[in-house]
Amino acid sequence: MSNMHKAGFVNIFGKPNAGKSTLLNAIIGEKLAIISPKVQTTRHRITGVLTEPGYQIVFSDTPGIIDPKYKLHEKMMSVVKSALEDADVALLIMDAKDSLQENLELFDSLKLKVPCILILNKMDNVEAADMAELLEKAKAWGKAKAVVPISARQQKGIKDLLAAIVAMLPEANPFYPDDTLTDKSTRFFVAEMIREKIFQLFEEEIPYHTTVIVTQYQEKETLTKITAEIIVTRESQKAIILGERGKSIRELGTQARQEIEKFIERKVFLELFVKVRGKWRDNDLFLKEYGY
Ligand code: GDP
Ligand code: MG
Repeated sequence: MSNMHKAGFVNIFGKPNAGKSTLLNAIIGEKLAIISPKVQTTRHRITGVLTEPGYQIVFSDTPGIIDPKYKLHEKMMSVVKSALEDADVALLIMDAKDSLQENLELFDSLKLKVPCILILNKMDNVEAADMAELLEKAKAWGKAKAVVPISARQQKGIKDLLAAIVAMLPEANPFYPDDTLTDKSTRFFVAEMIREKIFQLFEEEIPYHTTVIVTQYQEKETLTKITAEIIVTRESQKAIILGERGKSIRELGTQARQEIEKFIERKVFLELFVKVRGKWRDNDLFLKEYGY
């Protein structure tokens, strides 16, 4: 028996919708990162800490790799770039149904300096024979230390993935106390949960023009009182979020409150306000205020 301890930083990269956030949640076993079928749901770098006997892994979920179209996008991509430089291991994840060649080109363009594992996600969507063929082709790329097929949604292949990661980790003492799950605050997650519901409930451009900030978070005797502001860029978007006689925002409030109650395991009183801040996505001061 040795008492060697391994610890390190592992960052998750991939195109939008590859399943990065779903993977992080599957590994940590808690819902840390918000998930939606729409692209660009993840805007921040979200850290999840996995502590097991003998090792600790600090995972970072990142926004999907995209071409910046506005300043918020630029901030999101600078998050990706900074994540490239400070990992011990990079996880390159792709949808197994997506083009292998396109993904490999993208991963090549990252010019990774750290060792990487290639993950073929959503294997639940692919026939076994096709999966075997894809696996062979992916191995032929030659740049990954391991190629691991998984289904993040069905939590399959996660053990093999963890074993591959641990084999590549440096010897080190843990960075965080062993009950730490994340470095982000509860307030942050509350805002993210409201944002997730907006992604799920509203169509087209609305979620992309919206951000959420928690302005009040008070622990009362029997419940937690939370006030949040939903920031949009136009009056017309505010009207849609409010809905006829406030119907839509009530639905949003109910769904978000239930999600938050599950997360903090307390009753919640949630108050939502909608504010119009034209061009917040292109305004450095607003971006800073909203945590980007
Ligand atoms: P991200 O943009 O890379 O963070 O992707 P998400 O984790 O938000 O997932 C994008 C979409 O893919 C969501 O609808 C997920 O439910 C779905 N998804 C993620 N992992 C799997 C998987 O293993 N199998 C299937 N069928 N769908 C998945
Ligand atoms: Mg994501």
